[in-house]
Amino acid sequence: MRAAVVVPGGRYEVTEVPDPSPGPGELLLRVTACGFCGSDIKARAAMPEGTVMGHEFGGQIVGVGPDTAGDWREGAHVAVLPALSCGGCDWCASGYVIHCPRVRLVGLGGTGGGFAELAVVTTAAAFPLTPDIDPLHGALVEPFAVGLHTARTGRIEAGDDVLVVGAGTVGLTTIAWARALGARRITAVDPAAIRRAAAERFGATDVLTSVEEATAGSYDVVAECAGRAGLLDAFVTAARPRGRIVLAGVTIDATPFQSWAALMKEVSVGFAVYYTPEEFRTVIAAFTSGLIDPAPLLARQVGLGEVNEAFDDLAQVAASGKILVSP
Ligand SMILES: [Zn+2]
Ligand SMILES: [Zn+2]
Repeated sequence: MRAAVVVPGGRYEVTEVPDPSPGPGELLLRVTACGFCGSDIKARAAMPEGTVMGHEFGGQIVGVGPDTAGDWREGAHVAVLPALSCGGCDWCASGYVIHCPRVRLVGLGGTGGGFAELAVVTTAAAFPLTPDIDPLHGALVEPFAVGLHTARTGRIEAGDDVLVVGAGTVGLTTIAWARALGARRITAVDPAAIRRAAAERFGATDVLTSVEEATAGSYDVVAECAGRAGLLDAFVTAARPRGRIVLAGVTIDATPFQSWAALMKEVSVGFAVYYTPEEFRTVIAAFTSGLIDPAPLLARQVGLGEVNEAFDDLAQVAASGKILVSP
């Protein structure tokens, strides 16, 4: 099969690699589309040469491994939860599969991802799309599951005033879920005009260019979706007493903060990463019912040969929303 693999110099190269084959309990998928993610930018430098990245994808079943339980028919379309876990530990039982000690991350070094014509995943990581869902949108289930997990970690409820910092994909899908959950006011913060405009399309009621402009003490929930360190004091300032702050952006930089202000407001700070299988099912149900429309998240579709250009566009914020690679 053809795959875009990581090569030295921080680039991808399309090359022929052996077809993967499904073992017991596994499915062989023909990848329909795979999204680029901000975390791919941060992770690529650490990936060994030859890695097939891509962790936001959906595909069509073209093979079922031997001794595989369940009703898995060739031709069906699925979305992939890109964390293959053991299925037997307490974390797997609770649904927090990312915390399984034996988890293998798909497309981030653990097992081959979606920037390839074919991929193998376990049946536990495959979530059937309903006929109402465009198979292309299977690749958008993952980013909307990130938004749902962020919204739930921040305990966003109907009537809440929510500040979403960063209007990249995580911010946009968090805004979509805040709206779906009945938030009253959703303020989006982003320095890039193209992203502020996208935030408004996704349901933001107002937009700001920096978090310092937010009205102090006026938000029930502050969601950090930009991966920028050093803003925690500003989030505490923006939050109401007993407000919830949820950090979903990825950064390795330290975040010092003044605990006194947080103490006097009794804010709580949570962190959100990945999602649960139940959240994947909730996203698919929301796509099916129309509660969430995934289409506006799609920026454009490219082929495997355009992976480097798409990656550069993402890194330079030249596009808003998801660029999907269709191998
Ligand atoms: Zn991602
Ligand atoms: Zn486990």
